[in-house]
Amino acid sequence: MRAPRVRARLDACPRCESAIIVALDSAVAGLPVHADPLPLDGPAELQARMEGRTTYNLVGHPAVGQALVERLPELIRHRCHPVVATHRCPGPVPATAIPPPRQTAPAEPDLFTPPDEPPY
Ligand SMILES: [Zn+2]
Repeated sequence: MRAPRVRARLDACPRCESAIIVALDSAVAGLPVHADPLPLDGPAELQARMEGRTTYNLVGHPAVGQALVERLPELIRHRCHPVVATHRCPGPVPATAIPPPRQTAPAEPDLFTPPDEPPY
């Protein structure tokens, strides 16, 4: 598990090995958040809050991609983004559901094999 950043990313819970969303809840003095990657509807969010779990909007952010923003109780009826709740072991999504990372690094040039054609 890597150190959390504001940008939300998928990871695995170190205790139950379920898939979780890891992010900081703020860019300044942010606290690490581990959330279940399962969108909640209204009744499910209410149940999560009654269990003492905090709920977050998973919002698109132009600078960081996706970020978790804590939902304010007075704005709980507004649902403009997917809503997720803090993770509780065991999570609802197994870590095997996380897609493998894409190969984005270009292949390094082979400096030890001579080229097929002479360079001049
Ligand atoms: Zn867990």
